[in-house]
Amino acid sequence: MMYSVRQYLFPRTLEEAHQLLHNHPSNTIIGGSTYLRLGGKTIDTAVDISRLGLKYIMETEDTIVIGAGTTLREVENSPLLNRYFNGILNKSVRHIVGVQLRNLATVGANVFARFGFSDLNTALLTLDVDVELYQGGLMPLRQFLQKGVGGRDILVKLIIQKSERQASFQMLRNSQGDYAILNAAVSRLENDWRIVVGARPGRCEIAGGASAFLGEGSLTPERIDQATQMAVGEMTFGSNIRGSKEYRQGICPVLIKRAVQEVLAWK
Ligand SMILES: Cc1cc2nc3c(=O)[nH]c(=O)nc-3n(C[C@H](O)[C@H](O)[C@H](O)COP(=O)(O)OP(=O)(O)OC[C@H]3O[C@@H](n4cnc5c(N)ncnc54)[C@H](O)[C@@H]3O)c2cc1C
Repeated sequence: MMYSVRQYLFPRTLEEAHQLLHNHPSNTIIGGSTYLRLGGKTIDTAVDISRLGLKYIMETEDTIVIGAGTTLREVENSPLLNRYFNGILNKSVRHIVGVQLRNLATVGANVFARFGFSDLNTALLTLDVDVELYQGGLMPLRQFLQKGVGGRDILVKLIIQKSERQASFQMLRNSQGDYAILNAAVSRLENDWRIVVGARPGRCEIAGGASAFLGEGSLTPERIDQATQMAVGEMTFGSNIRGSKEYRQGICPVLIKRAVQEVLAWK
């Protein structure tokens, strides 16, 4: 299957891209085209944003900024990203399908599509991240993942607050390159812990109660076990061809515990 397109355009500005997107209900932003080509959509105008200078990973004094056109492979290989948060972003994307796909698939599409199976969003949600949308402006990633934008927009960049936060990404796959059966990420900045679970198979979410619990007392093995069980209780799990709800519930504490232990080891 493949999508069909009446005309394929390369806008010169974001404003032009946004206008084109709204000229017809079927007009569609094209990132790396890797996911779109799995479907059979009929598109009037394909709006290819690859010439808008959105391919970059840079840092300012307080932030790291990732342009929407950056590929997953560029995230994986970025020395800058590797210097922060124990390289959680680099690690989160390196199992996605294969190098050829990661050379095409873009950060903007992965985040904007809010895929339940996204590995990148699970890792990003443990950090302090804002998304910048052309029309919607700046919005915390958490809010964006929960509510979306209620319409069609263009994700322009991700803005990540720099900090000494330690982080770990874990996942379980049936085979290399398949979607994760479950993924989990944990981060810690002093007593501020964040536990995120995704691919349940629903979209990633923060286990708020379990995260707060970890920050409130000593980090004994018993309390860590208690936190992992609390996190399971806060999440909803489902079944699909990759795993049952019960299986996901069973492996969830294991992935969280591994992530917590990895974060503690980096102390
Ligand atoms: C077989 C397969 C397996 C995959 N497995 C995983 C996995 O295990 N983990 C994981 O995290 N990801 C996985 N992915 C998703 C992948 O990482 C990419 O996110 C996805 O393929 C889309 O990337 P793309 O740039 O090619 O987007 P496209 O296919 O070009 O676009 C996808 C959608 O995003 C929209 N879009 C693109 N860019 C923007 C933007 N800047 N603003 C607004 N909307 C935009 C498009 O209009 C379209 O609706 C998989 C993809 C495939 C094809």
